[in-house]
Amino acid sequence: MAKKQNQKIVKCSFCGRDGNEVGSMIAGPDVYICDICISSSVDILKNNLAAYNNKKSIEKTKHTPHSLKISLDEYVIGQERAKKVLSVAVYNHYKRINSRSTFFELDDVEIEKSNILLMGPTGVGKTLLAQTLAKILDVPFAIADATTLTEAGYVGDDVETVLVHLLQAADYNLERAQKGIVYIDEIDKISRKSESTSITRDVSGEGVQQALLKILEGTIAGIPPKGGRKHPEQSLINLNTKNILFILGGAFSGIDKIIATRINKNKMGFTSDLKKQQTDDELLKFIQPEDLLKYGLIPELIGRIPIVAPLQSLSEEAMKNILTEPKNAILKQYKKLYMMEGIELEFDPFAVDAIVKRAMERKTGARALRSIVEDFMLDIMYDLPEKKNIQKCIITKDVVEKGKDPLFVKVDKKSA
Ligand code: ADP
Repeated sequence: MAKKQNQKIVKCSFCGRDGNEVGSMIAGPDVYICDICISSSVDILKNNLAAYNNKKSIEKTKHTPHSLKISLDEYVIGQERAKKVLSVAVYNHYKRINSRSTFFELDDVEIEKSNILLMGPTGVGKTLLAQTLAKILDVPFAIADATTLTEAGYVGDDVETVLVHLLQAADYNLERAQKGIVYIDEIDKISRKSESTSITRDVSGEGVQQALLKILEGTIAGIPPKGGRKHPEQSLINLNTKNILFILGGAFSGIDKIIATRINKNKMGFTSDLKKQQTDDELLKFIQPEDLLKYGLIPELIGRIPIVAPLQSLSEEAMKNILTEPKNAILKQYKKLYMMEGIELEFDPFAVDAIVKRAMERKTGARALRSIVEDFMLDIMYDLPEKKNIQKCIITKDVVEKGKDPLFVKVDKKSA
């Protein structure tokens, strides 16, 4: 009895509960831990591990908004704001995907998917941006033209055909396809007629918008594995679009007027001359969801594309840079082709100016650059392998403007 009284009362060193209050107590040298504290510790460790793994998986992708923007800079000239907006949106998108099924899901805050709308004239880099992002992120990429899409059952491509292309781009790896990027061009051309400013737009646009909405929101789409139309007897692949990033693009010509009217209406007097002072490009920066509604996009679709990045028309300077600066710039590609023949190819700065001048006249953005260069280079490329002892070929302004021959520098036989 005396012995029992002397017995030390064992208490948990962490919560202070004594042995009678808990199921079991584990002893260490001069410390004790009860089963309740062990259970809490396991929970804490699990959460820490999940957070650690999540951080690791984000680190593994090595992308930050800054690094994404820097990578985009290598391929896309100008469009600084669009590049920034895209970098942040894409970073958040993949962070959201990577954080799924970790403890971040335990709280009630679910980060919604943010699809993106790139708005700007033709040939200024909308497709290039989407394409380059997919390349940087190493995810499958598919392009579709909204005008060729139809509601299911009509003649034309079902909206789901886009997903078939994505699956093909992912080499039929379903998991990869489900994290891919889809670019849908000409989204402005499927605006509904009633709200729009033009009478020439497609009336069936709204149906396509509804169909697009479904895959943008996130749905399980049953798609034929080898593409083509669905056959009743064919087993379908279930592709979840929840984590696919949709980038929509369109010129939205005329939307500047809608924006200007709205701003002028809201700020009477203050900006009554706003349209005169601002260029169309500048007006696009003030875009609001209501402008898109007025243009003819359905409200549900607008709700699914909360991020709008306006792109600017390209200045002469930007066009010049596009010819020469990007990693795969057109002139660099020709120079490489020539180098393979052992010939140095040089573009006179006046020739570059002349190419840009011509391209600006076509009003199709940088799209015109390649065809102009290809046009005058065709004959030169055709004849070149027949010419002997050429060391250097110089493209002058006259080659571009008047179709004259380039200047050839022959190998100096004495020094050779
Ligand atoms: P769109 O805005 O109509 O989608 P694209 O991205 O298809 O235009 O551009 C057409 C081509 O013009 C691209 O393949 C690319 O070579 C060139 N280009 C357009 N904009 C840029 C840009 N900002 N920087 C570099 N190249 C560009």
